Amino acid sequence: MASSLVIVYHREPYEEHVEHGRRVLKENSSPNGIVPALKGFIGQVDSASWVAWKRAPAGRAQRFERRVRIDDSYGSYEVVRVPLTTEQIGQFYHVTSKEALWPVINSFPSHYSTENCDWATFRDVNRLFAAAACDEAAPGATVWIHDYNLWLVPGFVRAARPDVRIAFFHHTGFPAADLFAILPWRDEIVASLLCCDVVGFHIPRYACNFVAAVRALRDVDGVVERPVEASLRGTGQALGEPQVPVELRLDGRCVRIDVCSIGTHATLIRDLVRTPRSVERVAEIRRANPEQTLIVSVGRVDYTKGIREMLLCYERLLRRRPELHGRVKLLLTAVAAAAGMRVYRHAQQSIEQLVGRINGHFGTLTWLPILLSTTSMPFEETLSYYRAADVCWITPLRDGLNLVAKEYVAAHVNESGVLVLSEFAGAAVELDGAVLVNPYSLSQMDDAIDLALAMPRDEQRARMERLDRQVVRHDIAHWTRHVVDLFAELGDEVAA
Ligand code: UDP
Repeated sequence: MASSLVIVYHREPYEEHVEHGRRVLKENSSPNGIVPALKGFIGQVDSASWVAWKRAPAGRAQRFERRVRIDDSYGSYEVVRVPLTTEQIGQFYHVTSKEALWPVINSFPSHYSTENCDWATFRDVNRLFAAAACDEAAPGATVWIHDYNLWLVPGFVRAARPDVRIAFFHHTGFPAADLFAILPWRDEIVASLLCCDVVGFHIPRYACNFVAAVRALRDVDGVVERPVEASLRGTGQALGEPQVPVELRLDGRCVRIDVCSIGTHATLIRDLVRTPRSVERVAEIRRANPEQTLIVSVGRVDYTKGIREMLLCYERLLRRRPELHGRVKLLLTAVAAAAGMRVYRHAQQSIEQLVGRINGHFGTLTWLPILLSTTSMPFEETLSYYRAADVCWITPLRDGLNLVAKEYVAAHVNESGVLVLSEFAGAAVELDGAVLVNPYSLSQMDDAIDLALAMPRDEQRARMERLDRQVVRHDIAHWTRHVVDLFAELGDEVAA
């Protein structure tokens, strides 16, 4: 099968269920997230393939269905499943990606470890993805590779298929050059990324970091920069940048650098929160917590997400301001990582212990200061919690973007509500109107939550209006249009 667009992302683009003893593939129940965002491209091209991995227990190779054809609301496309053994998945995804690459990408060198890493397996898995992508790609096709755990795929694809266009998008941030230099495989990673026609990032800072990392390791002939659009400059903030690189010249060729952050499905969110079912659910959440200011925080268990630091701030708040006892509640979703993710065990334990300590110390028979869920909520239920909450508290120590912040704004449809957001979340540079905070500063964290709890409704509405404009302007459709135009330009450049 020859496809004009080959999407290479580690997850499969559907959910697998067992019904009446049979496996069925169903469209993802959540219309939100990376998979639906990427599937939005399928209907835009003549023929598309998706390359993902699938567990294939050793010895069952002959029963493994490598290719499936999917027809869903996004269109018709091929999915090629790269068979991986349990050992390969553990090594590639749970160990090398999460124990070595993730801490460096998120500027946590103290969590970096190569003790259990096997780079050869990581490389082999990347090679398998690349081979599958090359088999799918029509002459001159675009191969679009996603995320850091597939960093070596561009190099393998380029070696086998000089004719295709290669694009890479980072769903994470990109670290400063001196942090990136920690990785013993830095040259191999950079060499692979430089095989791309375009390398994409959420915000200007990550593009600057990437170019700085390349400059440190290679002789660069030139970098073309342009000023960052005023609304995305983030002047005075941790991730603010006035200039962004758009082109990197070296070895007689050009690599384009592209910056466009993924947006949320703002119109869909608005429609969902206006349904009678959602309105009733929001009223129910409010009735269950009468006369309380509701603070919502939604995320995954990960030391980068700063949940522990946020809980410590909440504990200080309840200690500092006894008048809030019984009048405030934190609704916290911290989705536990998949079993086997050794690196997250400690983060999860520390969240559970802190919540226990705070509830144990301050709670009464009629008031619990925190409700914690470590299982994932369906998207519509998450939206109801956003809508019911007076404050959304998102203070990661690092976060490539943070979609929750954008979803909270979209769910509030211009009404009151306060977004408290870490300056170290990529989304902070575009969300003018949020209460921005440096999560490393205890006093700033305290001030930010005080400010949010005391903010007059008029100011909340004015800020929400500004936030909403940005979230709607840079929604998921904007990202899709941007990438479609980018691929068209690349095609023109190849033809020229
Ligand atoms: N989410 C959800 N249910 C939950 C927790 C999270 O649907 O219980 C969704 C949330 O709505 C958001 C995504 O998971 O779309 C998390 O994305 P984000 O960019 O904030 O963080 P990431 O997990 O990608 O680092």
